Amino acid sequence: MADVVLPTTVDELVAARAAAPDALLLAGGTDLMVAVNAGWTAPRSVVALRRVDALRGVRVDGDEVVVGAATTYRDLLAPDVAALVPALAQAARTVGSPQIRAAGTVGGNIGTASPAGDTLPVLVAAGATIEVAGADGARSLPATEVFVGVKRTALRPDEVVTAVRLPAAAGPQAYKKVGVRNAMVIAVASVALVVDTGRRRVGLGLGSVGPVPLFVPDASAFAAGAIDWDAAAGPGLIDPGAARRFGEMAAAASAPIDDHRSTAAYRRHAVGVMAARALRDAFPTAGSHAA
Ligand SMILES: Cc1cc2nc3c(=O)[nH]c(=O)nc-3n(C[C@H](O)[C@H](O)[C@H](O)COP(=O)(O)OP(=O)(O)OC[C@H]3O[C@@H](n4cnc5c(N)ncnc54)[C@H](O)[C@@H]3O)c2cc1C
Repeated sequence: MADVVLPTTVDELVAARAAAPDALLLAGGTDLMVAVNAGWTAPRSVVALRRVDALRGVRVDGDEVVVGAATTYRDLLAPDVAALVPALAQAARTVGSPQIRAAGTVGGNIGTASPAGDTLPVLVAAGATIEVAGADGARSLPATEVFVGVKRTALRPDEVVTAVRLPAAAGPQAYKKVGVRNAMVIAVASVALVVDTGRRRVGLGLGSVGPVPLFVPDASAFAAGAIDWDAAAGPGLIDPGAARRFGEMAAAASAPIDDHRSTAAYRRHAVGVMAARALRDAFPTAGSHAA
């Protein structure tokens, strides 16, 4: 039977971790309890986040949105939140079942750092920063630097994710995922597209096609240069040929593996198709919807 510590503030949480360095953090438990039940881990000490109110909820800070680490997928689906971070809400909608969405959290998705974690491609595409707190104080890390390998993050052992900070939506966003069935499914491949029409920025993130969620800088820059941002109607226009090229660049940037869920070749193909489609959906142009 593990000791369970229930801090109520971030300071208490950090102190609890410092006092028990081998303690495991427990948020929604949807990953952790799978590991415990399977016998992969048997924590002697658990620090639970459930009572730390400061870690929960979504707030606006200037032109950024701050999502507390203990915010659940269900919380992200609230219409006012979904309007601020549509791709994150779209990703949340694809996670597990209603029960998993009610318990699972953004901080837990980061903590697990699975290449298939649904929020993670959105975070890298959006240029999000991850806020952490630890024994030496608080710091912010670009999401692109947090994921360093399969289920490995750059966080120090004493650190806790406190929040995710990302720009409020300022243009089209999309999250697309393929899996082996329609529901309750881990991504075989996924794509996040986050556009800022004011800054004329495009961000492309890929999931399940490498050891970490991938940001694709060359495709992102290519799309930003190919979009006719001054087109009169809507956010802009994209030439279908450019959308196709964008998809090819996404596929080329991926580094998938063959495993029990899919083949590397299918994954590479899928991210190419999804990236091109996401860009065409974001910047429609006549006749561009033919696959
Ligand atoms: C049936 C089922 C279906 C699922 N479907 C999906 C899916 O479709 N897509 C998907 O992405 N995931 C899916 N998952 C995995 C899981 O729900 C998510 O990864 C979820 O975000 C984990 O969050 P949690 O709060 O439950 O984390 P927990 O299980 O509590 O913790 C997970 C890990 O993160 C660490 N951690 C938790 N909070 C923090 C924090 N604030 N700072 C640092 N580390 C922290 C924990 O110590 C642990 O190592 C599924 C799981 C199940 C059981």
